[in-house]
Amino acid sequence: MHAMVLNKLAAPLEWTELADRKPGPGQVRVNIAACGVCRTDLHVVDGELPNPKIPIIPGHEIVGRIDIIGPAVEGLTIGQRVGIPWLGQTCGVCAYCRMERENLCDDPIFTGFTRDGGFASATIADARFTFPLGEAGSDAALAPLLCAGLIGWRALSRAGEARRLGLYGFGAAAHIVAQAAAWQGRTVFGFTRPGDAATQSFARSLGVAWVGGADEMPPEPLDAAIIFAPSGALIPAALKAVRKGGRVVCAGIHMSDIPNFPYTLLWEERELVSVANLTRQDGIDFLSAAPKLGIVTHTTTYPLRKANEALADLRAGRFHGAAVLVP
Ligand SMILES: [Zn+2]
Ligand SMILES: [Zn+2]
Repeated sequence: MHAMVLNKLAAPLEWTELADRKPGPGQVRVNIAACGVCRTDLHVVDGELPNPKIPIIPGHEIVGRIDIIGPAVEGLTIGQRVGIPWLGQTCGVCAYCRMERENLCDDPIFTGFTRDGGFASATIADARFTFPLGEAGSDAALAPLLCAGLIGWRALSRAGEARRLGLYGFGAAAHIVAQAAAWQGRTVFGFTRPGDAATQSFARSLGVAWVGGADEMPPEPLDAAIIFAPSGALIPAALKAVRKGGRVVCAGIHMSDIPNFPYTLLWEERELVSVANLTRQDGIDFLSAAPKLGIVTHTTTYPLRKANEALADLRAGRFHGAAVLVP
């Protein structure tokens, strides 16, 4: 197999030939057909997340086909198309696992962070944490659903019944959530980098009712806002934009520090919450709902060898929607 490997934090990934790997008990080997590039991959590469495995093969939006099934695996078949998400494994016994909050597991494994992921021609996954994908949709179109879609869906659930929903940061996750929210009959307000006319017109094309810069106030108060961009300065901005009793959901795994802000922004029962990881139930719920919601992903594909270029383009905001690596 070959892979783009991170051998050193904050360094470029390196094209590497590796010995083929065999699945152990409870695992499958998957031949990778597409792997999305997520902002979390940038945080991994930049060393912004605690306790990474190094060297590591990043990538946690994997679509591929099972080519070897390890011992003691049930319900999966050779040749079946599956998706592999960020949550690679949980302990099953900690308090969080037992209270059906496995996204908060005390001893988890994360794909592309503490277990090798999808910037490769093949990967090994825990069979219990793979999602059968069926045959509808192209591999590249499905890949962004595995994290941008899933985490976006979890964040949308955390936003509650909000009819007027703000999305701060209009990248891969927001472009999926905007479509789901519009389908649910919500009015979506999109916030981009100030002056980013191209992203604003992209957001409008997806049914977003109002778009503006993150430094602007929406024309009416929001019921809830989801922050996807990794900037802590957006928290006071979003709190200012939500009504009394409104909620701000932070959907990213990492953010820059939050600036001081006056208590009046939180006062009147505004809520500030975060979303961490996903549960398998999130995956089952979202992947079964996605076709009904009519979600169309906008992807820019790069050959696996150009993973560094894809990461650089993500960092610079040079494409709309999601980047996907293909063999
Ligand atoms: Zn656990
Ligand atoms: Zn991700």
